[in-house]
Amino acid sequence: MKHITLNTTKQNILDLQLISEALEPSESQRNAFLDQVKAYANQFINTIGEARTYNSDKETKNALAIDFQTKSMEDILKTYKEEVATKGINAASGGHIGYIPGGGIYASAVADYLADVTNEYAGMYYASPGAVAIENEVLDWMKSIFDFPKSAIGNLTSGGSMANLIALTAARDKHKIKSDKITSSVIYVSAQVHHCIHKALRIIGLEDVIVRYVDLDEHSRIIANDLDFKIKSDISEGLNPFLVIASAGTTDTGAVDPLKAIAELAKGNDLWFHVDAAYGGFFILTEEKKDRFIGIEEADSIVIDPHKGLFLPYGLGAVLIKDKQAVYHSNHYRANYMQDVMDDSAPVNPADVSPELTKPFRGLRLWLPLQLHGIAPFIACLQEKLLLTTYFRDELLKLGFMLGPEPDLSVSYFWYPTNDENENEFNERLMQAIHKDGSVFLSSTTINGKFVIRIAILSFRTKLETIDRAIEMISIALKSLS
Ligand SMILES: *Cc1c(COP(=O)(O)O)cnc(C)c1O
Repeated sequence: MKHITLNTTKQNILDLQLISEALEPSESQRNAFLDQVKAYANQFINTIGEARTYNSDKETKNALAIDFQTKSMEDILKTYKEEVATKGINAASGGHIGYIPGGGIYASAVADYLADVTNEYAGMYYASPGAVAIENEVLDWMKSIFDFPKSAIGNLTSGGSMANLIALTAARDKHKIKSDKITSSVIYVSAQVHHCIHKALRIIGLEDVIVRYVDLDEHSRIIANDLDFKIKSDISEGLNPFLVIASAGTTDTGAVDPLKAIAELAKGNDLWFHVDAAYGGFFILTEEKKDRFIGIEEADSIVIDPHKGLFLPYGLGAVLIKDKQAVYHSNHYRANYMQDVMDDSAPVNPADVSPELTKPFRGLRLWLPLQLHGIAPFIACLQEKLLLTTYFRDELLKLGFMLGPEPDLSVSYFWYPTNDENENEFNERLMQAIHKDGSVFLSSTTINGKFVIRIAILSFRTKLETIDRAIEMISIALKSLS
């Protein structure tokens, strides 16, 4: 690196300008970058159907080291392909039917490009009224889906974990759970609740609240009668129940808790009712599943993840909360240097609803695809996932597998019955064989002590052909073990 000793001559400033100009490529350089990235992206998408979904090779080579030697875009893309895009899980692939699959619709990538180039400041209405209007429009649309009042507020977060954190903080502040109350306050959850809830509780200082696990039925859904019983017995002991968390699509089994019954118990006992619908929420858009969500409109807060249920690339979750003051308590702040911004009649500032101040313009990555494609392809895609889940289960049955209960949404599980004490071990080996193959990626979990393999169908690229490929792979893996 060339070092320039600073003095205040104009020549010195111009010398520095010459070097820093590399940060503003010329139009022809910009086009050259984009052409190469575009060619790579096209090749990636055109061949994604043939590529493996999982590669267990985790070793990266030195090529990633930052050595301040400038490299060509071509070399960088080559490194990206070798070290990043072809290792681990290919989350853009339709063959990703493990965990909760990702997606990555192209229109969002284009939106991100636009948002990044224009670098809109989406934290404050004052700085970017248009960007904030788009974010609020996206949130208003989500409120309408869940029959939330327009007066509810919301925030576009990096994902479901951050969204849950914001909602639980609001619940804490609404019920004034301060240090003197923490150890006598009670939260009700399912054992299947997502682990980000436990993380959030620790982060927001509620590690020592009492967490009650409500009994689950054979579909892994909360049993409302048991919730009722537990709340009553806690109240009679002089404890302070203040929050119940339901899931609308658990990660493990896709179970939707009985939202209506839980809503009524929450209302009757003055509990904050939170619904984590990060995985399943957008299935409310389908005629087939919308009734499953009855009661969600009575929640105090909801979390949904467009980077799951609307197939966006990673980086977009959302939270909707009815009580604005509860959210403002922790997040609303006016620093003196922001005095130009104070206009309380203006639309809600994203920065007042979230721990973030400066944030990327996330709304565009959902708004633009909805403007470009409309809603029909998204709904069709969700319906397609439901049918593929049924199809997958039918095919597994033909191979002799046992299936988990009829799924509420698009997550299910299966295991091969050996009917002896080696059953778990056999299914673990089967999982390993499937991972080794890697043409399609599945994951496993443990349900009531039983090792089971999960199906989670949510990628927009998962098609009938993908499921046939998965069945073929599973059948080969099964033969290799027997
Ligand atoms: C994925 C998921 C989360 C966490 O969301 P991230 O976007 O991964 O942070 C929370 N709850 C449920 C039910 C989920 O499926």
